Amino acid sequence: MTMNGTATHYDLVVVGAGIVGLATAWTARQRGLRVAVVERNAKAIGASVRNFGFITVTG
Ligand SMILES: Cc1cc2nc3c(=O)[nH]c(=O)nc-3n(C[C@H](O)[C@H](O)[C@H](O)COP(=O)(O)OP(=O)(O)OC[C@H]3O[C@@H](n4cnc5c(N)ncnc54)[C@H](O)[C@@H]3O)c2cc1C
Repeated sequence: MTMNGTATHYDLVVVGAGIVGLATAWTARQRGLRVAVVERNAKAIGASVRNFGFITVTG
């Protein structure tokens, strides 16, 4: 732990805060793991916020 209480050791480090990364991180937290998410961009600009919103087999 650092002085401000931030964990410095993690069970899982997820690279990328798109839907796949966040779903993985959320599931790991549900299972009690200490998780860090590393995202290269300051705001969401990946495919998860640019998609068409279709829920189809082909999509
Ligand atoms: C134009 C478009 C339309 C689409 N339409 C549909 C649709 O209608 N229906 C559907 O089901 N799917 C659709 N998709 C597909 C769907 O959006 C993607 O399959 C899904 O969002 C991928 O999620 P992801 O988390 O893997 O990737 P992303 O959402 O792209 O997230 C990846 C993240 O990782 C970060 N990252 C990458 N490399 C690094 C690094 N080295 N260090 C730190 N961070 C990093 C990126 O910055 C990004 O934030 C569409 C995709 C696009 C592009």
